[in-house]
Amino acid sequence: MPGFPDGIPGIEFANRLRQQAERFGVELLQAQDVTRIYSHDNYHCIFTGGGSEYSARALLIATGSRYRRLHVPGEDKYLGAGIHFCATCDGPFYKGKHIAVIGGGNSAAEESLLLCKFAHKVTILVRGGEFTASKIIQEKALADPKIEVRWHMEVQEFVGADAKLNKLVLCNNQTGEFSELNVDGAFIFIGQTPNTRFLAGSPLVLNEWGFVATGHDLIHAGFTTGHEPEVLATSVPGIFAAGDVREGSTKQVASAAGEGATAALLIREYLKTV
Ligand SMILES: Cc1cc2nc3c(=O)[nH]c(=O)nc-3n(C[C@H](O)[C@H](O)[C@H](O)COP(=O)(O)OP(=O)(O)OC[C@H]3O[C@@H](n4cnc5c(N)ncnc54)[C@H](O)[C@@H]3O)c2cc1C
Repeated sequence: MPGFPDGIPGIEFANRLRQQAERFGVELLQAQDVTRIYSHDNYHCIFTGGGSEYSARALLIATGSRYRRLHVPGEDKYLGAGIHFCATCDGPFYKGKHIAVIGGGNSAAEESLLLCKFAHKVTILVRGGEFTASKIIQEKALADPKIEVRWHMEVQEFVGADAKLNKLVLCNNQTGEFSELNVDGAFIFIGQTPNTRFLAGSPLVLNEWGFVATGHDLIHAGFTTGHEPEVLATSVPGIFAAGDVREGSTKQVASAAGEGATAALLIREYLKTV
C-alpha cells in the first residue's frame, strides 16, 4: 500500500481504515453477515444472518474473496511465515532463495515467472501431468532456466523450524512415493473464491467463478443495456461492486481502495438521478 514503506499488518491497517471512516461519521455495523439481497423499485434490501433488514437507494458490494487453500497440516501455522498467495506482495522477500510454487494454471505459471526476478530457483509443483495455463505462458515457464517443474506432485505437509517454513512433504500421486523438498518459501496459486454466496438467486450477473461482472465485462457476459455500462456498475442499476469481489480486479489492496473511492463518486452521481 503506498505510504507504508515498511508494510503494515493487515489488522492494524483495517483498524486505521475504521477509525478514519468513523471520523467522517460513517456508521459501521460489525459482525453482520449479509445473507441475501433483494431489489424493488429503486430500493435495495439487505438481509443479515441476525435477522436484520436494511434498505438503501444504492449499494456497493465489496465483500472480497478468499484464496483457495490446500487444507494440509502446517498450512495455517506457516501462513505469512513462508507460505504466501501474492508474488507481487511477498516475492521481494525471497531474493536469491528457493521458492516452491503450488498450482498448474495461469496464475501459477505467470507468478512463477515473476518470482524468478527475485528467487535463485523456483520449483513448480503441479498436481496433474500438464499445465492448464495458456500455451504461451507454459512455454515461457518451461523455457526459464530458473524454473523446475515437477508433475503429479501433491503437498502433504508444510514443515518448519523456528516458526518459519523450511520444507514440504510431497507425494507423487502416480507412484505413491513420498519425498521432501527443502524451500525458503511456498506460494499457493490454486485459485480464489469470491464471497458472493449471498448473491445466489439475485439478478446480478456473475462470471463462471462467481465474481461480480461490472462495466464492459457485462457486455462480454452477453448482458445488454442500451448504453455502455459504467465502469463499476453491475447489471442492476444502483448496485456497484469494487475490490477483490469484482471480476477482473487486480487483488491488490491499493486497487481495492481506489475502486472503493471511484465507486463512491459514481454512487454520488447515481443518487442524483433517483
Ligand atoms: C494473507 C494476505 C496477504 C496479503 N498481502 C497483500 C499485500 O501485501 N499487498 C496487497 O496489495 N494485497 C495483499 N493482499 C490482498 C488484499 O488483502 C486484498 O486485495 C484487499 O484486502 C481486497 O480488499 P476488498 O475490500 O476488496 O476485500 P477484503 O479486504 O477481503 O474485505 C472484504 C470484507 O467483506 C466482508 N464480507 C465478506 N462476505 C460478507 C458477507 N456476506 N456479509 C458481510 N460482510 C462480508 C469480509 O469479512 C471482509 O471484511 C493480501 C491478502 C491476504 C489474504
